[in-house]
Order: sequence, then C-alpha cells, then structure tokens
Amino acid sequence: MGMRPSDPASSESILVTNPFDGSEVGSVPCIHPDGAPELISSARNGARICRSLSRQERAGILQNCASLIARDEEDFARLIVAEAGKTIRQARKEAQRCVTTLELSAEEARRNVGELVPFHAYPGGRGRQGWFTREPLGIIAAITPYNDPLNLAAHKLGPAIAGGNAVLLKPSDLTPLSATKLVEYLYQAGLPSSVVTLATGGPALGEALVSSRDVRMVSFTGGFATGEKIARTAGLKRLAMDLGGNAPVIVLDDCDLDVAVESCVSGSFWASGQNCVGTQRILIQSSIYEPFKERFVAATEALTVGDPTSPLTDVGPMITRHAADRARAAVDAALRDGARVLCGHRQDGSIYAPTVLEGVRLDCDLWQQEAFSPVVLLQPVDTLQEAISLANMPDYSLHAGIFTNDLSAALRAADGLEVSGIMINDSSDYRFDGMPFGGFKYGSLGREGVRFAYEEMTQPKVVCIRTDHQ
Ligand code: NAD
Repeated sequence: MGMRPSDPASSESILVTNPFDGSEVGSVPCIHPDGAPELISSARNGARICRSLSRQERAGILQNCASLIARDEEDFARLIVAEAGKTIRQARKEAQRCVTTLELSAEEARRNVGELVPFHAYPGGRGRQGWFTREPLGIIAAITPYNDPLNLAAHKLGPAIAGGNAVLLKPSDLTPLSATKLVEYLYQAGLPSSVVTLATGGPALGEALVSSRDVRMVSFTGGFATGEKIARTAGLKRLAMDLGGNAPVIVLDDCDLDVAVESCVSGSFWASGQNCVGTQRILIQSSIYEPFKERFVAATEALTVGDPTSPLTDVGPMITRHAADRARAAVDAALRDGARVLCGHRQDGSIYAPTVLEGVRLDCDLWQQEAFSPVVLLQPVDTLQEAISLANMPDYSLHAGIFTNDLSAALRAADGLEVSGIMINDSSDYRFDGMPFGGFKYGSLGREGVRFAYEEMTQPKVVCIRTDHQ
C-alpha cells in the first residue's frame, strides 16, 4: 500500500491555512524523516508494479484521471484558491492545464516507446538489426513548490507514470492539498496506490528522500538555494531542476502598444508575481518610454486587488504575510538606491499591491535576482542590442518576451537572448504544457514539458539481433 494521509507513521500534521484570510483549509500528515525508509519501501513495490503495467494500462489510467479532474475542475480550482491564494480565474486555468498535462502524458505512454537503430547503415553493422526501448528508471523523488500546486505535481507524476516509474511525491508544506487530491484521483482512476507514494512533510523529509540510494532521479521544482542543496545531497542520480527566473520583456517602438501593455500587465502580476516566468523587467525603447509607462501604470492601478474567490479579482494575496514583507523590503532596498515608485508599494497583511518601479540600479538585487512578487521594473533602452545586453545580465534565466512588428528584430532577439523560450508579441509567461520548458544558464538541468520530462524519466535499452551467421 502507498503511504496515505491516514497512515500511523505520521503522528504530527501540517496545518494548511488560507493565505488571504488565515482560515484553516485542511491538514496533512507531517511525516518525520525517520519515516523515509517506509515510504521508500512502498515505492520499491510501486516501481515493480508500474513497470509491469502495459502501456495501454498506464495510458488508460492517466486518461481516466484527466477525465475525472475535468469533471471536478471547479473543486480543484477552489482548493487552489483556498491553499495557494491564486484568484479563481487563475486557479480554473491551472486545473484545465492539469487535465492537458495528464492527457499529454497518456499520449506519451502510447507513442514514445523507442526506435529502430540503423545498425546496418554504418560500418560494422552489416547483418545486425534491432531497436531501443524506453525503460523506466525505477523510483523518482518529485519535489514541488507552493505556486501552481496542482499542475506542477502533474508535470512530474504524468510523465513518470507514463514511463513506468514509481514516484515519491513531496509537495510544498505550504500547499500540499491540491497534490494530495491529485494523487487520490489517480488512485480512483485505477493507479495501484504504491505507484505514487505521498510524502507530505518538511524540507528534512525531502532531504531524506533525495539522499536515498534507491532513488534513481530527483525531479525538483523550486528555488535556487534548495536546488543547490539537493544537488549536493543527491549523489549519482539523475537531476531535473526547474528553478527561478527573472524574465525580461523588450518593447520596441514599432509594436502594437495596446497589446504590449495588456500582455505585460498580465505577465507581471499573474499569481501575484509568484510565477517563475512572470515578467520582472521591461526594457522599453526610449522613443515610446513615456507613453508606455503612462498606459502601463494606469492599467496596473486599474487592477482589482483582494479576495481571490471573486471572479472580479485580478491580483490576490501572496502565499504568506512573510512573503509580502520580503517583497516590500526588496523594494525599500531599491528605493534607498535611488529607484522611484510609479504605483503600488502598499502592504496589507499578505497582500502586496502591484508595484511598478523605474530607475532601479542595474547592480541592485531587484534587477539581478528573482523577485517572485508583484513587482516590475521599467527601463528605457535606445537600441535592441542594448536591450538584449541588459536582458542577459542575470546568470540564470527561463523565458523572455519581445513586442515588435519587425520580424528581423524579433528573430535577432530570439537569437541573442540567453533564454530557453522567447515569446514574440506575447507575455513572457506563456507556456503550453507540451513544449520543452526549463532553465537556460546556471542551474539548467533537464527540461519539463510532458514529452521532454518523459524522456528524462526513462532510459534506452538496446536490443541487437545478429542474423548473418545463420
Ligand atoms: P523552495 O525551494 O523553498 O521549496 C520547494 C520544495 O522543496 C518544497 O517542497 C520544500 O519543502 C522542498 N525542500 C526545501 N528544502 C529542501 C531540501 N533541503 N531537500 C529537499 N527538499 C527541500 O521553493 P518555493 O518557495 O516553494 O517555490 C518558489 C520557487 O520555485 C521560486 O524560485 C520559483 O521560481 C521556483 N519555481 C520554478 C518553476 C519552474 O518550472 N522553473 C516553477 C515554479 C516555481
């Protein structure tokens, strides 16, 4: 049996509170790191079971689960609002994306089975034919963050199950309920329970799983500091790291200004800026800096901030009051270094108002580091080349965007920006769940996006038949 929330090994609980009003949303067991061997032994059993499921069975379970979640999408969305503080409109989108992620995973189970190897096309291969298959790795430890608490868990579970693996899933201790519900739905869809073992607990439990020799891969999404710790602890295992960003967006003077303003506002403040591909720095050609700024600030001030359950709300709370304190403190530090506030910079508990700054020094933390808050910086630039150089300053990246109607400028930006995805005439935070997704410079280990995660979660096995001696 998989470790379920009712198992006795866990005597303490993690209380989950609503980031907006502090009410209690639910609880899960806080499994002590001493419980790790029991979880791992359950997963060992799960690995045997999952690899013996036919591809049709794996695909069927994933597809069933997608259909069940589509049926109960609104319940999932409300749970995301309650535990993560996303607005209801954003939470509905996450639940829909989770359905897509599982459907793509079902397709991968059926489609991505291996390839013929063209032995006889090369010297030394005459009289041989064969293929490679995609085999499971075994046990995968999947560790997820608090933002996107449902779909980021699905991005690990879907491809892992499609590939025939068992998973030890450790969701964020701030938002474990959506992941727990997803696992319950997988069981309902027919997944043998030991294939996914829920490991709810704190960082120490995560570390105990990461250090286990039985674990073949750690698939981690979260912050750099945690990623670095995990890399030190893991030893000789596959690592997939989906870490932070600090997305730049370039706005050139020939663009459609209305589209640029609307997309940049959405990209900057979606999920209260707690979005790894959220727009953090906007580099605007000097000739349109003032009109862009005026419209951008007006559109930001028009956002409805507050109760995330209301369909009228655009920006809800941050995950905790502490996160809002940190966001405010980072802006205060930039102000001491000469930055100017154009709007926002007001805090009410866990709510930090959408904040627009200009004049931020380029050596300031807010320029160089991930803000992960509803804060965006405006910066005038004279040329595309200058914009690309400023955009590339941080030593890590995920996505970027550019607004222009000049195809050659867009393609020069696509070539020059050191990022893993560039969105042309769209916000930096556009993502389709089937596309390759991951970091570019420092910390770039692996790609998610169902097909790409599936390939990292499987290993080729070659079968070669010699026929020339018969
Ligand atoms: P975090 O790094 O604090 O925590 C992530 C997970 O790691 C949690 O489950 C936590 O309990 C666990 N953990 C903490 N210490 C650990 C340890 N020593 N060993 C094993 N597990 C440990 O991240 P967070 O604050 O929850 O999430 C925000 C971060 O995640 C941001 O930096 C954001 O950019 C990043 N993120 C990246 C992506 C992406 O796909 N690239 C997506 C979403 C979020």
